[in-house]
Amino acid sequence: MYANQASCEMHIFDSSGSPAVNIEALADYGRELLGGTEVLCQGDFIGYCLGKCEPPDVDQVENELAEMLAGARVTEPTARTRTSKQPQPVADYERRMLRREPPRPVGVLYDGFELCLTYNGLLSRAGVDADALVLVITNQLFGTFEEDDSRYHARVIIFGSPCIVSTTGLVEAPAKPRSQYIGRQLGFGQSPAMGDASGRWLLPNDPRTTEVLKGYLAQAIFYYVTGEPFCEERGCRLFNAHWQEDLLLSQLGSEREFCEYHRIVAHTFKGVGNV
Ligand SMILES: [Zn+2]
Repeated sequence: MYANQASCEMHIFDSSGSPAVNIEALADYGRELLGGTEVLCQGDFIGYCLGKCEPPDVDQVENELAEMLAGARVTEPTARTRTSKQPQPVADYERRMLRREPPRPVGVLYDGFELCLTYNGLLSRAGVDADALVLVITNQLFGTFEEDDSRYHARVIIFGSPCIVSTTGLVEAPAKPRSQYIGRQLGFGQSPAMGDASGRWLLPNDPRTTEVLKGYLAQAIFYYVTGEPFCEERGCRLFNAHWQEDLLLSQLGSEREFCEYHRIVAHTFKGVGNV
């Protein structure tokens, strides 16, 4: 038995505001993987956590949260170190966005690990069990700094407490076919934001979003239970896809959920909540 199995409880928050995200279907998939485990759907993460704070604490938490979100912004994609203190209007903007219902406007890239740290503080304020597996679905875009080419890259998911998965990241992070970029350079490619009759990449609010998110939910569960979210085998739900076509093949086009190895590992998760 893995260390995290005995105390497993899962919370799924939907802050995406996307009509393409079916949180109940995701919760059912989580229950299927973690048979017997309690999986709770909690709506918007920010609203839920702030709703757990009593006035006047909520104002203070909001201010701290806004400051941290402002500080987590990536202002220079090629710089590892960021301005620790953003101008006050930036924090004020973040505070106003906190009070809005999803979908909140997208247009900022956050440092994924700092966003995770910020959300972690909010989780403990809200009294969510520190041992619980928490997945936050957001439409906000985040990235990580890669040493290889010394710049930030957008990511679909960050693993931590909580795990955070981005619906905008699903569209923006995995690369589109090479021919698309060559075509655009030559002036006759489609804009990725426009329709794609071939369906070779995900679009905002794509009807395939929930099915694709199941794979990231599975990755969060494997991360939580085993410490290893990824698989190298294309076609396994845990494949770490860097290309849209690999993402769609692994999450939608494969004949099986997991490769043989991960199918066996997943089987050991069943009945975790009954331990
Ligand atoms: Zn696998």
